[in-house]
Amino acid sequence: MIERSAAPVRPGTMLVLMTEREERSMKVIVAGAGIGGLCLAQGLVRAGIDVRVYEREPAADSRYQGFRIALNEHGLGALRACLPPRLYRLLDAVTGPLAGRPRVVDQHLTELRRLDPTDGGAAADRRVLREILLAGLGDRVEFARAVTGYAELPDGTVEVHLSDGAGTVADLLVGADGVGSAVRRRLLPDARVVDVPGNSLLGRTPLTERFAALVPDFGTLVQGPGLTMLLGRMEFRRPPRLAAAELAPEVELPDTDSYLRWVVTLPGQPTGPGADWATVRDRLLPLLDGWHPDLVELVRRSDVVNSAPLTLRYTEPVPHWGTGPVTLLGDAIHTMPPSAGQGANTALRDAALLCRTLTAAHRSGTGLREAVEAYEREMLAYGFAAVAESLERLPDFTPSR
Ligand SMILES: Cc1cc2nc3c(=O)[nH]c(=O)nc-3n(C[C@H](O)[C@H](O)[C@H](O)COP(=O)(O)OP(=O)(O)OC[C@H]3O[C@@H](n4cnc5c(N)ncnc54)[C@H](O)[C@@H]3O)c2cc1C
Repeated sequence: MIERSAAPVRPGTMLVLMTEREERSMKVIVAGAGIGGLCLAQGLVRAGIDVRVYEREPAADSRYQGFRIALNEHGLGALRACLPPRLYRLLDAVTGPLAGRPRVVDQHLTELRRLDPTDGGAAADRRVLREILLAGLGDRVEFARAVTGYAELPDGTVEVHLSDGAGTVADLLVGADGVGSAVRRRLLPDARVVDVPGNSLLGRTPLTERFAALVPDFGTLVQGPGLTMLLGRMEFRRPPRLAAAELAPEVELPDTDSYLRWVVTLPGQPTGPGADWATVRDRLLPLLDGWHPDLVELVRRSDVVNSAPLTLRYTEPVPHWGTGPVTLLGDAIHTMPPSAGQGANTALRDAALLCRTLTAAHRSGTGLREAVEAYEREMLAYGFAAVAESLERLPDFTPSR
């Protein structure tokens, strides 16, 4: 195990180094307590591996989180593999159905066609999922401590630098710090993250009987003149807070009701983060002139706290970089637009795969590098295949004319 020390040893940088080694046991640091990083941490804890997660945000609920994520067999399989069974049962209780053939309609709700059927899978609220992924990790997750950089040490370990000037040494740093990843910028400075043109808005409206009729299955695509609207239904099988009280009382889930999540994409420049939603909504409403009144009302009744402008991005493929004590996972390496519903599923798949290869290395006591390289090669192949598929399906998000 690697010993920690609180004394700053590098003049000028305030860096605190922990270098004293006692015995050889794997230590992993994860940058980012998002979907992928937390799933990895859960799996590593189950495997008895020493893991610590550093998160930039001050708390789990400190920024907009509550949109629907459609979990497929990869995402659900990864969660089943990494979460303790009792937390997986809780997750199962608070997901919603995800099956059927999404409709494509025009602005008057006249059906134009049906998209390919989806069988299986489950709809999860990102905020609820993240709370479940945090459960039981305790002080292994430290909020308000961003990873700012790292240095590879001569003995093959990595010294991780934190935003408060502290540092810590680990056998492996996993950059699970999302699309703006500080770890990726250091490891792969030439990797390109591209903004998708267009102005996307992510709305959330409480699910009522009237709005439920807009989405008979789990999704509806509205193709209107000059803009598209994608509607997704998040209907909790059981209210999250009540389900947690019954199934895992130590877990506090948000008191949230079912909702419709919708994404509108307009031509033109992105609205940008931080814009006031009421203003954004009031600019959108005149563009829906002549649309079915239920669609107009859906926008009018959007929840100002849980709706926001959205920037769609993707990463261009990168070749394998040569394995060291630093790797990447999820959006940090393969960001993709949500058009194929694959970003979180791929991040979860990465987490489960990396957990599996690390666990095998930990149990055999050898081959950390080989384990990481095996993960990286497999992850790069399916991760960038998912980016390509998401880009192919992007036209569903963009205006029809
Ligand atoms: C509207 C919308 C709908 C979506 N729908 C789907 C869907 O249906 N299915 C699907 O699979 N995916 C979907 N996605 C994509 C999915 O949300 C992301 O791909 C997924 O959250 C990526 O997980 P991650 O763990 O890689 O990154 P994130 O979940 O983004 O987590 C990264 C974490 O790192 C933290 N962080 C950032 N920088 C630092 C730093 N320097 N140090 C420490 N911490 C840091 C961040 O605060 C954050 O908590 C959707 C996305 C959007 C926007």
